[in-house]
Amino acid sequence: MKVTAAVVDELHEPFRIEELDLDEPGPGEALVKIVASGICHTDEITRHGDLPMPFPGVLGHEGAGEVVAVGDGVTRVRPGDHVVIGWPSCGACRNCRDGEPRYCARLGEALCGGGRLLGPRAGQTALRRPGGSPVHSHFFGQSSFSTYSLTWADALVVVPRDAPLDLLGPLACGISTGAGAVFNTLKPGPGSSLVVYGVGAVGLAAVMAARLSPATTIIAVDRHPARLTLAEEFGATHTVHVSEADPVAEVHRICGGPADYAMECTGVIPVVRQAADSVGMLGTCVLIGGAPAGAEFGLDHLSTLWGKRVVGTLGGSGRSETLIGTLVELHRQGRFPFDRLVRFYDLTDIDTALQDSRQGDVLKPVLRMSH
Ligand SMILES: [Zn+2]
Ligand SMILES: [Zn+2]
Repeated sequence: MKVTAAVVDELHEPFRIEELDLDEPGPGEALVKIVASGICHTDEITRHGDLPMPFPGVLGHEGAGEVVAVGDGVTRVRPGDHVVIGWPSCGACRNCRDGEPRYCARLGEALCGGGRLLGPRAGQTALRRPGGSPVHSHFFGQSSFSTYSLTWADALVVVPRDAPLDLLGPLACGISTGAGAVFNTLKPGPGSSLVVYGVGAVGLAAVMAARLSPATTIIAVDRHPARLTLAEEFGATHTVHVSEADPVAEVHRICGGPADYAMECTGVIPVVRQAADSVGMLGTCVLIGGAPAGAEFGLDHLSTLWGKRVVGTLGGSGRSETLIGTLVELHRQGRFPFDRLVRFYDLTDIDTALQDSRQGDVLKPVLRMSH
């Protein structure tokens, strides 16, 4: 079938809107008519080579839409279902079987192999140019900067029909990443203190999630005053503007000592150190932001020995189905207002969306597909 997609021809090249051919669903696969797809920082760093997605290819990994066809053997979803496209995983490795599919042993291949992970056509792309030359697909199992996406049916998360489908794509990655790091990784205890370094879309989702926890001190650190104001509205009890104060000293002052938890959402290496230095004995610093490929960071050895944990988290950990379902319901209840971060653009305006995002004018751009 014909689809309209934003294609990246080669590394660093801009997105170009093209008409492509997409395969029909085979065994285990589902065809999703994309309603809207969020843009995540990972799309941009992949276009510039930080993830090894082969090009030409179609990016986009925060897609939501309606199932329009399924292949043989698919029973979990059926045409007409409203879905968010979750992360793909093999389902067979130790981590998948232990309920941690975000850490699938085949994750690299699943997210950016450029083709199907599973099924009889494993390894093959689903997209071609009209002349027949292949275009890589299945970025995060979906390549959702397109009017339709061919996905592995088991990765789909069915959402209620009355939920606002055009908003929900970002729950597949960015928003879940921030919220899941609080709900699944940190699980802050009563009266605890938590500092979030970088309150873009991921960090603000973390602040919203922290407000739903028994943590009583929630500190937001950023260099954009507008973002700090938003963080306060979403539940931060304190804010620190990095150019006005040393954030590590400020965190210690506010908490009367080190914080219990720090979340590093920037991927900026000097900030990683600040986040780690913000927690003390038995504290936990969780690394969330993506730094450029090959980046390294340093820690103070002695203070890390004191029971400190520095851990990474991907996509909010846990299962897509549980996390996305929870966030959809919390949003419906008015307790997780992530819609306030979203601005909509047409697929054809992807460059404007990226530019607005880079300039910090918009926190979560979402591309709407016209059908
Ligand atoms: Zn696996
Ligand atoms: Zn992402």
